[in-house]
Amino acid sequence: AVFASLADKLQETFKKLRGKGKLTEADVSAAMREIRLALLEADVNFKVVKDFISRVKERAVGQEVMQSLTPGQQVVKIVHEELTALMGGSESKINWASQPPTVIMLVGLQGAGKTTTAAKLARLVQNQGRRPLLVAADVYRPAAIKQLQVLGEQLKVPVFSMGEGSNPVDIARAAVEHARKVGSNPVILDTAGRLHINEAMMAELAAIKEAVKPQEILLVVDAMTGQDAVQVASTFHQQLGLTGVILTKLDGDTRGGAALSVRAVTGCPIKFTGMGEKTEALETFHPDRLASRILGMGDVLSLIEKAQANLDVERAKELQRKIRQQEFTLEDFLEQMKQMKKMGPLDEIISMLPGAGKMKQLKDLQIDPKEMIHTEAIIQSMTPEERRNPAIINGSRKKRIAAGSGTRVQDVNRLLRQFDEAKKLMHLFTEGGSKKKMKGRFP
Ligand code: GDP
Repeated sequence: AVFASLADKLQETFKKLRGKGKLTEADVSAAMREIRLALLEADVNFKVVKDFISRVKERAVGQEVMQSLTPGQQVVKIVHEELTALMGGSESKINWASQPPTVIMLVGLQGAGKTTTAAKLARLVQNQGRRPLLVAADVYRPAAIKQLQVLGEQLKVPVFSMGEGSNPVDIARAAVEHARKVGSNPVILDTAGRLHINEAMMAELAAIKEAVKPQEILLVVDAMTGQDAVQVASTFHQQLGLTGVILTKLDGDTRGGAALSVRAVTGCPIKFTGMGEKTEALETFHPDRLASRILGMGDVLSLIEKAQANLDVERAKELQRKIRQQEFTLEDFLEQMKQMKKMGPLDEIISMLPGAGKMKQLKDLQIDPKEMIHTEAIIQSMTPEERRNPAIINGSRKKRIAAGSGTRVQDVNRLLRQFDEAKKLMHLFTEGGSKKKMKGRFP
């Protein structure tokens, strides 16, 4: 879960507030102390915390809350709104040039994830139907050019490079010229980082900026470095004028400090977040959704987007029809498991559901990839007739199926049991299941 420790503490505080019918000023003060501590422990900048608490407190002791029937809920709502505002309010989009190509310059320290992020960004805009050009302008880090070429090849995105001896300013200028000629857009520049901020690096970046006038200068920073990331962002912004920040490694167990402070301290919006090492792991940053997840309100919107991006709607409808008409077979069962798997790790999905963070038993619902392989093998060892009508699978058939799939009879039995359970459950959730039965099951 995102910012697990911070989320746990805030939700604990809110649980206490919700339990009270009326709130006194002392209740609010106590809650504010807890929130303040939780934010500081999450490594949020102390000045940001101070301002945040005073804004929330002022609103929380106001009339609208104290006279409300659900004062605890009102306080949660205020904290949600203020957290969202703290992170920039609404999402910020890429600033596209009126005359293509748009130039996006990525800057940052070594190891922050610049090269990986360049490829991720190329993939993201490619999925929007654009034809990006990746530019290898990191001529100092050994292997950076090669790394970008390999990633470009995977994504089928062209990579512009001029070899290690070239000057980065010349590379950038030539790349933009090339993009204009062949119609590539946007141009994504992977510039050179250093281990620490130094003048040579800044001078080079300023020269590139001057030469190609990028629409976007995005700082790539590692969220795991907390307040250091915020410090780095401040310096880059002062010297270069950033248009935004990309926070990487938000999939790790970062405490949240960077994400919650960077906007307030530097004035630069977070535009994207890196959520893993793979090239698809880049997300548009939505302050309100992150605030919801931190407060345990779930992130249903992201969940729906994830489902829409990964699920085949026609297949899903067809499955629904079959379930309704009781034609659901073992083949459909396998298909459904595969669709579920495409959505990604189940615990990640579950953590986006409102209140689900707390439901420990849901964690047992994992689809084990090894078990998936077994399931697939077992179903493939059945005859079409057996898949349609598992009732005919007797002892000798089970033995044959187990032998054919390299599993044991117990495994075949377990699969059949799971299938039965799934069928019953699905039947309850569709119109095929009678309302009365539903009531019995879910009092
Ligand atoms: P650069 O020196 O800034 O170009 O950094 P790289 O792109 O080479 O990335 C440094 C390391 O961070 C690599 O091992 C990447 O796989 C890893 N990395 C980059 N972004 C992310 C992310 O969002 N999550 C995780 N877990 N790892 C990342």
